[in-house]
Amino acid sequence: MTAQLLDGKAIAQKVRDEVRLDVARFVAQHGRAPGLDVVLVGEDPASQVYTRNKEKASIEVGMRGRLHRLPADATEEAVLDLVNGLADDDEVDGILVQLPLPKGINEQRVLDAVPASKDVDGFHPLNAGLLSAGRPGLVPCTPRGCMRLLAEAGTKLQGARAVVVGRSNIVGKPIAQLLLAQHATVTIAHSRTRDLAAVCREADVLIAAVGKAKMIQGDWVKEGATVIDVGINRTPEGKLCGDVDTAAAMDRAAWITPVPGGVGPMTIACLLENTLLAARARLGN
Ligand code: NAP
Repeated sequence: MTAQLLDGKAIAQKVRDEVRLDVARFVAQHGRAPGLDVVLVGEDPASQVYTRNKEKASIEVGMRGRLHRLPADATEEAVLDLVNGLADDDEVDGILVQLPLPKGINEQRVLDAVPASKDVDGFHPLNAGLLSAGRPGLVPCTPRGCMRLLAEAGTKLQGARAVVVGRSNIVGKPIAQLLLAQHATVTIAHSRTRDLAAVCREADVLIAAVGKAKMIQGDWVKEGATVIDVGINRTPEGKLCGDVDTAAAMDRAAWITPVPGGVGPMTIACLLENTLLAARARLGN
């Protein structure tokens, strides 16, 4: 079997086009665009690129996107003042604090200042709790993107064996909750899992969210599985690669996401979806 590639770039574009239409409807109904406010503290080069892309993507779909920059030596109080101001601003629907924050700033304290209703990253304990309870709320963007990719591949989740490798609060755990909500039988594997290869071989749906280049080998993949590779790593030669040995896994999987061009592009697209959802929920529809 040779796997089909799940084209995250194309699917992300489809999501953005859907959001653009819905934003136009929102504007017609409410007389203003949904607003996404991104907070960047410091000069980290990768964070500068990510935040600029988020601002640009929100403007492209017709939202009001704004990037707020604070210097690397900003105090925790200054960051909190900015976030609290955005929390109180009625025109702000989504607040995203770009991580990591500079050393010396308590990340948890800053994140906790983002109200659950504007938490478009889906990190707030209330949103995590709603997800865990199977109730509607704001879901972290990357997991949301993974579920859309599975839907686009037509992967049957009900009754399927799903294995999620990685148990972080922002990727592994929320993906596992979303798969469970779709009636998959879910195993969460991590660094202490015994015989990870055998666990992975059981998976009809295999999600890799580890952060270790090509750790998941081709013969760990079940024949006909759908493989979603969340990992973003660099090879010793400096090339981007995922957590899965994609070339080898393609001989066995039915569907697989490439890296780059798989899960990555879905994350910003789903951030836009979350901003629209937050705006609608705040305005009561
Ligand atoms: P993380 O917080 O570092 O979590 C990594 C998880 O992998 C942990 O649960 C860890 O287990 C597990 N793990 C580590 N080594 C392992 C091993 N040898 N065998 C089995 N499990 C192992 O990372 P994250 O934030 O979830 O991100 C995971 C990857 O996704 C990274 O490459 C990151 O760059 C990428 N990512 C991509 C996007 C995107 O948009 N595409 C978004 C977010 C993250 P323990 O809990 O036992 O330590």
